[in-house]
Amino acid sequence: METWQTILKDSITTSEDLKKHLGCDFIELPDVINQFPVRINSYILNQIRLHGHPIRAQYVPDVQEIQDTTCIPDPLGEEDLSKTPNLVHKYPDRVLFLVTGQCSAFCRFCTRKRKVGTERMAISKKAIDRSIEYIRSNPTIREVLISGGDPLHLPDSTIDRILTKLRSIPSVEIIRIGSRMPSSLPMRVTPQLVRMLSSHHPLYINTHFNHPAELTKESIRACTMLADAGIPVGCQTVLLRGINDNSKILAELFCKLLRIRVKPYYLFQGDLTRGTNHFRTTTKCGIQIMQELYGHISGMAIPIYALDAPGGKGKIPLTPNYLLQSGRDLVFRNFRGEVCSYPEPVDSF
Ligand SMILES: *Cc1c(COP(=O)(O)O)cnc(C)c1O
Repeated sequence: METWQTILKDSITTSEDLKKHLGCDFIELPDVINQFPVRINSYILNQIRLHGHPIRAQYVPDVQEIQDTTCIPDPLGEEDLSKTPNLVHKYPDRVLFLVTGQCSAFCRFCTRKRKVGTERMAISKKAIDRSIEYIRSNPTIREVLISGGDPLHLPDSTIDRILTKLRSIPSVEIIRIGSRMPSSLPMRVTPQLVRMLSSHHPLYINTHFNHPAELTKESIRACTMLADAGIPVGCQTVLLRGINDNSKILAELFCKLLRIRVKPYYLFQGDLTRGTNHFRTTTKCGIQIMQELYGHISGMAIPIYALDAPGGKGKIPLTPNYLLQSGRDLVFRNFRGEVCSYPEPVDSF
């Protein structure tokens, strides 16, 4: 069997390969991939051949990426909020710690599209150590979110070194890793990796699935291995126009994730990232989808629909409006549209 490293090394990265294996051929293709690199491994290629558009549109370059004049390079203001070049300290008790600029596959809708996979996101060992020292000297930080790029793109020994250093900081209670590997290169989840990760508990993993077609024998196996090692696995899905922007597809995805012990955590409204405008839906569409989910499927299967506000203002939860009238008697509608009321306690008035 091929190792994950070999699969990764043999990925499609050039215009010629895209043309040969995917029939991808338009005149601006070299311009697109010069700006926004491509990486498609054989596992994903196989998924594209089996399922077509919903997988293809996530990974295969499109001319619309360089025609986007609406969005901006760094909508979340991460560069401005950085304490060290690879640490974003936006919320009081937790930080986002970027440990690599590389991924096993480059999602076309990536929020850090401006730099992931390019030399603009080279992260040195020294930069990592400096960030760890920042965390050590700020004891209000109780949680570290390790992201990138994809942290599991790093060798086991490097990940182990970072986790060991973080675990030596008494104020760091929770470590969370964000990784798309379970869906983009599930062979990365090896018994050795899982054993190493589970020696750093409490450790959580948030992974990323966008479509039920991504739940394959291999990705299910990867998630099951993590869950069996006591690692709670969450999922951060991105709402993507023409890929998963309807409640039937998302209900199927979320219910199937729950069955493999992956808890849907966030459904993200598309960020305002340059090169991704063609993936954005309206928030009206997202709220309508949420309305079709609440009450109709298990609450456990329902993520928080959130918009990450431009300018680094943070995540804003978006929910359908159930409150029709406030005051002494609250009037609501329920998930079926029936009207009901609830009296507030008298002494609150
Ligand atoms: C999303 C995010 C977090 C984590 O937010 P949660 O709501 O706890 O998942 C932390 N820091 C930054 C900069 C983020 O963008």
